[in-house]
Amino acid sequence: SPIPDYLHHVLEVARPNDGGAAAAYIETLAKADTSKMAVALAMVDGNVYSAGDDRVEFSIQSIAKAFVYAMAIEDSGLEAVLKKIGVEPSGDKFNQLSLERNTNRPMNPMINAGAITAHTLVVSPTATLHQRTERILQALSRLAGRQLRVDEEVYEAELRTADRNMAIGYMLKAAGVISCDPQEAVRGYIRQCSINVNVQDLAMMSSVLANGGMHPLTGEQMIPQTSVRQVLSVMTTCGMYDAAGDWVSNVGFPAKSGVAGAIIGALPGQVGIATFSPKIDERGNSVRGVAMCEQLSRDMGLHMMDVS
Ligand code: GLU
Repeated sequence: SPIPDYLHHVLEVARPNDGGAAAAYIETLAKADTSKMAVALAMVDGNVYSAGDDRVEFSIQSIAKAFVYAMAIEDSGLEAVLKKIGVEPSGDKFNQLSLERNTNRPMNPMINAGAITAHTLVVSPTATLHQRTERILQALSRLAGRQLRVDEEVYEAELRTADRNMAIGYMLKAAGVISCDPQEAVRGYIRQCSINVNVQDLAMMSSVLANGGMHPLTGEQMIPQTSVRQVLSVMTTCGMYDAAGDWVSNVGFPAKSGVAGAIIGALPGQVGIATFSPKIDERGNSVRGVAMCEQLSRDMGLHMMDVS
């Protein structure tokens, strides 16, 4: 069929982009096979197409932030979440130790400070680490349509070098943003980052966002429509780290990237997109992934500001 052929073409056009490097600060990610590459599309009608290393697993990393934000809204309510986490792009690095000047909130849920806070608002602020991480693992599994698992090696490796995230946790505690044990919050956050997925899982998950929160395969309303709007809005303004402006003008659909080299995109009413290639640029975005998304956007007319 023409779509898988087209996706192979997208892979081959992006492959010569050899820039970037696998994330070095997490030992297990540094050892990733950087020749792996994959792309997947999950249409809102339930059809899934993929090409390349589409069964190769990698840790979800920051892409979980988008879905965990939706869970925090569901479990704690949008008002409580907005009291704790802003929605302004920061322009800073994803792991910046920063809070909004007047409100003392993390700037947005896509940088680590906001994501660690969102993690503590899943289930309830008094829940245990185990309750939160189970809730997140099972919810992501339902979105992906199969049982996912935590990569314990990635989890342990990231925990060993988590000084900066621990510092963010203590900053949040000192500012009164979180009330639980900061180390426990960060451990839970790192576990959510260590869940293994492949591009098909991610495309499926983003197709739920593209489909107003309803799962294209089961018809089940997985995420309320109002939360989907909130999530896609912060993905648009804050999802690609400090490259958000370039991304919106060049590619033009809500997206989120992770340091393991994956990117998800969601175009409302149309398609969930996922790409994977481990080498990332200095802003933390997969070099070949960005190239593939640019091409998909151009070829398929996916820029949200274009009239289709
Ligand atoms: N677990 C990573 C961290 O907190 C996620 C970073 C990312 O994917 O951007 O450093």
